[in-house]
Amino acid sequence: MGAITAAETGLSKVRLLEASAKTLEKVRISGGGRCNVTHACWDPTDLVTNYPRGRLPLLGSFSRFATGDAVSWFCQKGLDLIAEEDGRMFPITNSSSDVINCLSNAAKAIGVQCFTNSPVHKIDALKNSLFRVFPKNSQPIETQKVLLATGGHPSGRRLASSFGHSIVKPVPSLFSLTSRASFLNICSGISLNDVSLKLFVGETTFQERGSILITHWGFSGPAILRLSAFAARELNINDYNARLSINWINSDYIIAGNTLKEVRYSAARKQLGNTSPFPSLPKRLWLTFLKELEIDSSMRWSELTSKFEKKLLKKLLSNSFDISGRGPFGEEFVTAGGVNLSEVNLATMESRLFPGLYFAGELLDIDGVTGGYNFQHCWTSGWLAGKAIGIGLNSSSD
Ligand SMILES: Cc1cc2nc3c(=O)[nH]c(=O)nc-3n(C[C@H](O)[C@H](O)[C@H](O)COP(=O)(O)OP(=O)(O)OC[C@H]3O[C@@H](n4cnc5c(N)ncnc54)[C@H](O)[C@@H]3O)c2cc1C
Repeated sequence: MGAITAAETGLSKVRLLEASAKTLEKVRISGGGRCNVTHACWDPTDLVTNYPRGRLPLLGSFSRFATGDAVSWFCQKGLDLIAEEDGRMFPITNSSSDVINCLSNAAKAIGVQCFTNSPVHKIDALKNSLFRVFPKNSQPIETQKVLLATGGHPSGRRLASSFGHSIVKPVPSLFSLTSRASFLNICSGISLNDVSLKLFVGETTFQERGSILITHWGFSGPAILRLSAFAARELNINDYNARLSINWINSDYIIAGNTLKEVRYSAARKQLGNTSPFPSLPKRLWLTFLKELEIDSSMRWSELTSKFEKKLLKKLLSNSFDISGRGPFGEEFVTAGGVNLSEVNLATMESRLFPGLYFAGELLDIDGVTGGYNFQHCWTSGWLAGKAIGIGLNSSSD
């Protein structure tokens, strides 16, 4: 996005140096091969609430290039995006390779030169405001402006540090939570659409609401990933030890208590195991709760004592699990932390410490929750940097 925008804004020679054998490989694997390009959230004020890091500073960036701009940018380049019910936007073809083709074709059409297998290991600042960029395996390149967009790779953070930039400690974000509870063996595979979660990490409590998936090693699903993103730093400090409290029916003691009382009368002769009083609660989960509480599932509703009713309510509304780690390797979708935002002009993405040096994407101390927000920040920051580089803005400009 940065390279294309710089070239389209008028820069005659744009070279893109990619360490690996192919560009945009992360796009290929993104969104389960479908690439969740952005999110149908049009107001920058709402949009920024999805960024645990970067929230307020991003308001300015999104006021210049937000989700609607990204959607029309791709549309103008021939790629239509479509929103799903939950707001996530994918290419209409449902294939990440079409996003790759769209970007690659646009780069080619405007004359961006791509060099793969070219990891940059050093950048020197020369006296005449030029940079000398050292890609492995080829000759150094002299250039007036450099845009660093190296994602979560440590080499990019090292290059930024070599220009005096401070790096906010990188920690993983967007992961599942692991637990050793035996409950998981029985209930793995169950998903619920609307639960409330509280995560207690050290002295801090984080809350979320949404869908959750029980796996044989812990808890996953959008609400858990969102929780992990907002708690990423605290979880890291506490070595991923925390306590998770789940309100399985997203209700409170009064309403849920009344429902149980009602069922005691309306289904008095029915067996507990045959009648879950809460439609959103899968039967397997309901039966597991009865078993854990040593309530005979063949007991009739009229026989349920208030002691068991209280226990059931506690289980349904605040079921507590010890969390002992984060999900298996491979689920870390983004890195939280990176180049300190106070050292970057977010209107132009230019370094405040070193004119001519620009940043975009995950390398910065900005990350979003799942749903297309991470790519949206990449499109925004890449576009802003490309524009500024193209029209020759510098860090003293607005
Ligand atoms: C499995 C998975 C699925 C995801 N799905 C989604 C999704 O659907 N929607 C969403 O919004 N986000 C998603 N994300 C997050 C998203 O992929 C990242 O936020 C985004 O790719 C970051 O873009 P970037 O350009 O900053 O970095 P990257 O995409 O990581 O690109 C950086 C590039 O720089 C290259 N590079 C690194 N160091 C050097 C160097 N020294 N010299 C030269 N080249 C270098 C790398 O090889 C890489 O190609 C997903 C992430 C993962 C891991």
